[in-house]
Amino acid sequence: MSIIPFANSNVYELVAYQPGKPIEETARELGLRPEDIVKLASNENSMGPSPRAVEAMQQAAAGVHIYPDGASFALRSRVAAEHGVDFSNTVVANGSSELIELLGHALLRPGTQVIAADYAFTLYPIVAKLLGADYVSIPNRDKWTHDLDAMLAAITPQTRLVFITNPTNPVGTMVSQEELETFISRVPEHVVVAIDEAYIEFAGLPTDSVKLVKEGRNVVVLRTFSKAYGLAGARCGYAITSPEMADLLNKARSPFNVNSFAQVGALAALDDKEHIARSVEMVCRGRRQYVEFFEQLGLEYVPSHTNFILVNVGNGVEVFRQALAQGVIMRPMAAYGLHEYIRITIGNDRENARCIEVLNEILQK
Ligand SMILES: *Cc1c(COP(=O)(O)O)cnc(C)c1O
Repeated sequence: MSIIPFANSNVYELVAYQPGKPIEETARELGLRPEDIVKLASNENSMGPSPRAVEAMQQAAAGVHIYPDGASFALRSRVAAEHGVDFSNTVVANGSSELIELLGHALLRPGTQVIAADYAFTLYPIVAKLLGADYVSIPNRDKWTHDLDAMLAAITPQTRLVFITNPTNPVGTMVSQEELETFISRVPEHVVVAIDEAYIEFAGLPTDSVKLVKEGRNVVVLRTFSKAYGLAGARCGYAITSPEMADLLNKARSPFNVNSFAQVGALAALDDKEHIARSVEMVCRGRRQYVEFFEQLGLEYVPSHTNFILVNVGNGVEVFRQALAQGVIMRPMAAYGLHEYIRITIGNDRENARCIEVLNEILQK
């Protein structure tokens, strides 16, 4: 007896999202202590969360027998104030991953189409396929940068959603405000453009995608507390969009999607701008160290606007395995078809030094 013939074939055929290898699992396998593992695989903030967020979450623990505020009123109000938009322009969710899924629920069904760039976040095709939509991946311009003209040309009457990841993951490149505005002004009105800004705090080019929401464009700006804010474990992200679109997303979510800790942690984190500034400074310093090292070894890399860097090491999976054996976790890129590459999250000074030491040993052999 098997349930498979009766299951939703969209789900059955999915390949589940592959996260970075967890620290505990790696420590167990290698017989090391978790403290000895350097994890540079999931673009987390090695500086940790803001101490203010930690304190707020600790205080919230005693009240955890009460359901969280289902409307996330305080956090949505704070997000609205942060961006100079109305409460009705905001949605908060269990990570921006949930927002990506909600966009799918709101817009996709069999016969519709999603467009994204090559090497995009693997959750986009998962959500598209889950909902029976077609997923169209557009080759980049100069291999690494979104080709917005080609993405525009790929739009059909069936297209409902286009993802622009800015800066991109796992590549690290960006499109400029001007390119973005030109693109958005040419997108037909049956298409929603999701601008996923998971790494915007690290970006070297100034952009203002919320301006496009204010102008009434069909745009959903996605932000997360998982990367620069250092709250990946709390699970919180938000969207800025039209009241109409926000309403659709809010209808599609589950009633208490953002837990009590995430709500107060994110609220406190938004107030600690110094922590973000220090984190960005750490990443910029680390990025320079990696670039210097790659140039010494003559390795091809992609200049990055994010807290990670993509580098050609010849055989990505093999280098990943050898580094893993020494307790350094990076991300092989074979799942993206980039077999020669690994993606390294920029960590703190100690982690970067260890990673460079291990890579140097492996690559000099
Ligand atoms: C990390 C990441 C996210 C955010 O994920 P969360 O669910 O908020 O933790 C979204 N988009 C991209 C491109 C990412 O890399």
